[in-house]
Amino acid sequence: MNLVGDLFGAGKMFLPQVVKSARVMKKAVAYLLPFMEAEKAGCEIQSNGKILMATVKGDVHDIGKNIVGVVLQCNNYEVVDLGVMVPAETILQKAREERVDLIGLSGLITPSLDEMVHMGRELERQGFHIPLLIGGATTSRIHTAVKIDPQYQAPVVYVPDASRAVGVAASLLSEERRDAFAREVKDEYAAARERRSGQQQKRRQLSIGDARRNRFATNWGERRPLKPTFLGLKVFDDYPLAELQERIDWSPFFQTWELAGRYPRILDDAVVGEHARQLFDDARAMLSRIQAEGWLTARAVLGFWPANSVNDDDLEVYADQTREKVVARFHFIRQQMVKAGGEGNLCLADYVAPKASGVEDYIGAFAVTTGIGIEKRLARFEAAHDDYQSIMLKALADRLAEAFAERLHERVRREFWGYAADEALSNEELVAEKYIGIRPAPGYPACPDHTEKGLLWELMKADEHAGIRLTESFAMLPAASVSGFYFSHPKARYFGTGRIARDQVQDYAMRKGMSVEQAERWLAPILAYEP
Ligand code: SAH
Repeated sequence: MNLVGDLFGAGKMFLPQVVKSARVMKKAVAYLLPFMEAEKAGCEIQSNGKILMATVKGDVHDIGKNIVGVVLQCNNYEVVDLGVMVPAETILQKAREERVDLIGLSGLITPSLDEMVHMGRELERQGFHIPLLIGGATTSRIHTAVKIDPQYQAPVVYVPDASRAVGVAASLLSEERRDAFAREVKDEYAAARERRSGQQQKRRQLSIGDARRNRFATNWGERRPLKPTFLGLKVFDDYPLAELQERIDWSPFFQTWELAGRYPRILDDAVVGEHARQLFDDARAMLSRIQAEGWLTARAVLGFWPANSVNDDDLEVYADQTREKVVARFHFIRQQMVKAGGEGNLCLADYVAPKASGVEDYIGAFAVTTGIGIEKRLARFEAAHDDYQSIMLKALADRLAEAFAERLHERVRREFWGYAADEALSNEELVAEKYIGIRPAPGYPACPDHTEKGLLWELMKADEHAGIRLTESFAMLPAASVSGFYFSHPKARYFGTGRIARDQVQDYAMRKGMSVEQAERWLAPILAYEP
């Protein structure tokens, strides 16, 4: 097994092969274990170290964590995997009980960044010295350096992908290299902090008032938004998976497996082509079984409501066409960077007619999942020590969920809302987002506050209608779920709010009726200042 890990670390083996070989090894070990226990003295396996791994409280995504776990096991590390949504206290208690050598934390959504900072603080407060590894989609070297590292005196190391995990673990646990490595990383992160504070002082920003005056402008006298073909909710209890398969965007699938390149070119890539093709074959074989044997059920709810923008950056959603009763009020963030070339400081609210204009506008929302039923299958793979199939199924469920969001959005444009009834885009054009209108997701760059998902859930009753629940950090469960808004404005596009200033945070907190501290917590990843 060490050989497999070494070859992977050296770039001579690719992740899918590693995970597959782990399956063979784990099955063999599971078979041999009873015999080995009996003759323990004779064939004791010396582990390289014990590593606790967990997806932090409020977060549900674990593909990356599981991959790192398998790779570490391949290198003869013992992995204590606590699963997902693990509270800090549980991690600390287990770390003590199991006398682990390293703690690895994973997270996908931005609130997890804050939870990791909290973990660092708790480790320090409770007198731990165990090195901390940080990984997952929203984590970064700079966040680790600026926010987490200063909390904890022991080494804190950002691990960008599975191929680095073994090198980092080995350095941190090697008697000879440990101290030098720890010092090197601490120094590197201190330098990164320094550089960043220099950059921050240079950054110029508009006041929120000036940003609003430079909004994205529409001549509302000329625009007559189309009314959707229905108002209220539409529910899909069991959407045909066959319709989704064609809409899968495969490039992120290969990324999950750490194979670099875009689909379909990747299949003919000189370096990874063969591995990509093998992986793709396995994926399609599993997709067939998912459909034929009903492994996964796709559920969704979507809805349309009369809506207008108010207070510059908010959106009022009305119960009906009288527009008298407000059923939800969404709050959006506006860009505050200095713009060149007459470009506006964007905010999603700009895409909906202001109430004062008297123009009747509308908003849509959706929540989709393809993760219903997945737990039962995963439990079987787990019982069979089959990480390869388990990771494959999660990756495919995620792909199907995105494909479902894509397919529904297409039907919204052509059929349910109907503002692009004649649209005829190819798959490539869909993946390249060549369509009219957008479907931004709360927690993503145009609307980074995850708590707005709570309001979406109230509007759509997505628990009841689609079987998707929200965790305390507003992650969706099942993990293979996507949600968002529909905007029909012909000029609407995806953007990032970028960093925002204190004046907007204060204003936002007031509009949302939360304390500034709470607002700072939810908006932490986009604050241009240290709270
Ligand atoms: N085809 C890709 C789509 C990835 S983006 C895939 O299959 O993985 C996924 C979703 O994120 C988009 O559909 C949109 O809902 C949301 N999104 C993308 N950019 C965004 C932005 N800047 N702000 C808000 N949401 C965004």
